[in-house]
Amino acid sequence: RDEAEDWVDRIFEAVNKCRPTLHNDEHWEVLQGSGENGVDERSISSASSALSSPERRLSSTDSSETAPPVQEFDWTRTTDLETDALKEAVLYLSTDSEARTWTPLVVSLSLEAVKGFRVQEERKVLWLNNPIAEIRDVVPDVSLGGPAFFKVLTMRETLRFRAENPDEAQSWRVLIRGALDSYLESGEDVISEEPPPVLGTGVNGNLHRLVQHRLKENGQLLGHLYTVPSEKGLDAQSYKCSGCHQQIGPSRGRARLCEFTGQYYCVACHKGDTTIIPSRMVHNWDLTQREVSKKALRLLAQIEQEPLMNLELLNPDLMSHAESMAQAHSLRERLRLLGDYLLTCRSGACKKLHARMGQRTYLLETRHLYSVLDLRQIADGQYGNFLISLVQQASNHVLNCDLCTQRGFICQICHSNDILFPFQFDSTTRCKDCKAVFHLFCKNEKNSCPRCQRMKKYLERDLQDSH
Ligand SMILES: [Zn+2]
Ligand SMILES: [Zn+2]
Ligand SMILES: [Zn+2]
Ligand SMILES: [Zn+2]
Repeated sequence: RDEAEDWVDRIFEAVNKCRPTLHNDEHWEVLQGSGENGVDERSISSASSALSSPERRLSSTDSSETAPPVQEFDWTRTTDLETDALKEAVLYLSTDSEARTWTPLVVSLSLEAVKGFRVQEERKVLWLNNPIAEIRDVVPDVSLGGPAFFKVLTMRETLRFRAENPDEAQSWRVLIRGALDSYLESGEDVISEEPPPVLGTGVNGNLHRLVQHRLKENGQLLGHLYTVPSEKGLDAQSYKCSGCHQQIGPSRGRARLCEFTGQYYCVACHKGDTTIIPSRMVHNWDLTQREVSKKALRLLAQIEQEPLMNLELLNPDLMSHAESMAQAHSLRERLRLLGDYLLTCRSGACKKLHARMGQRTYLLETRHLYSVLDLRQIADGQYGNFLISLVQQASNHVLNCDLCTQRGFICQICHSNDILFPFQFDSTTRCKDCKAVFHLFCKNEKNSCPRCQRMKKYLERDLQDSH
C-alpha cells in the first residue's frame, strides 16, 4: 500500500513540475484587494487541494469524468467591431461549474458594459450583457489551469473566461479594471469630501469603493465604519448641524452627538436611535448600544449585508479576547472549507444554502470578512446558532453526496476506509504543509506527517542523484 501511495505521490509531483501554471507566477500582477475579497484565497486553496494526492478519485461510470474530450479552440474574429468597443476579441466562456466545456464568444468591452456575442450565420447575436456598474472585480484564476484564465465577478454570477494566451488575459483584466475605475471615478465628485481609508488596514478595498459609489452622498460616512470616532467638539464644526447645517449649540438649537461619526446634529437630524458601533465592537469589544444620527442609522441599514470589514487585519487579537468571536471564527473556517465542496458540486446544493444566507454568500468563500449584520448577530448572541445550522446543512450534503464524497481524504496513517474531510474539526486534523487530512487520534503531536516525510525522502534522493 505504501509503495502504491509513493507511486501516486511521485507521479503527482512529476506532473506538477511540468505544469506551466506553477512556474508562471512572475507573470501575475498583484491585484489590490482581491485577496481580501476572499477570491484569491479560494482559488489558491482549490488549486492546492487539487494538487494534494490523497484525494480519492473513484472510477466513474461517466467517462467524461476521467477523460474530458479534447476541445478545439478557434481564436479568429470574423465579425465587425462594436462602435464603442475598447477591446473586442474571441474569448471562451465556461458554461458548467467544473469548467469542462467552453463556449466561444465574441466579447466586447465598452465603458458601459461587457457584452458577449454568439456568431450565427456570420452575424453577432447578443448572448450576455453585464453593465460595468454590476462588476465587482476581475481576477486571474489559476485554478482553471493557467495564466490564460481569468474571471469576472458580477453581482449575480461569476464569469470564467479563457483567453488565447496569458498576455491577452492580462490585457483584458487591465482594460476591464480600467473601465471599472473610470466608472467609479465618474461619481467621485459627489463623495470626494471624505478621504478614502488607507488600503491594507482592514478595508475591503474594491467593495468599499463600489458600496460608497452606490450610496451616493451618504457614502461620505462609510469611512467611519472602521475607526473609532474622536469627538472634536461643536466649535470644530462651527456650531452647525453636520446634517442640515442649521445653527446648533448653546443658546441656539439643542445639539446631539452621533456616536458613529463623532459629529453633532440638530434634533431633527438625530432622533436618538441606538445601535452598536461596529468600530467600537471590532477594536474595543464594546457592545454598548449608542445613539446615532438618522443618516448613520440609514447607512448602517444600507450596508448591513456587505462584507466590508476584514477582522484579521482590523484586529487579529479579537478572537483571543472574546469567546463568542473565537466560536464565530472557528465556525466561519468550517463553513469556508465546506464552501470548497459546495461551490464546485454540480448537484446545485449551493442554491438551497444560498437561499438561507440571503446576500451573505461570502460566508462560503472567506472566513475573515464580516458585515455589520454579522457583528450585530454576534452582539445579540445569535450568530453561533445561525452558523451552526448552516454548517449542519452543508455538511449533511457533503457527507451524503456522491460527487462530494469522491473528493474526501483517506487517513494515510491507519489506512482505514473512512472518508475524511478537512471541515471535521472534531475528528480530523490537517497537515499545514501538504494539506493531507488524518484522523485526530492517529496523528498526535509526536508523529510527523507521513506524506511530508516521504516527500522529504524523495527530495534528499533527488539531491543525491544530481551529484
Ligand atoms: Zn440638522
Ligand atoms: Zn455535492
Ligand atoms: Zn487514521
Ligand atoms: Zn504533510
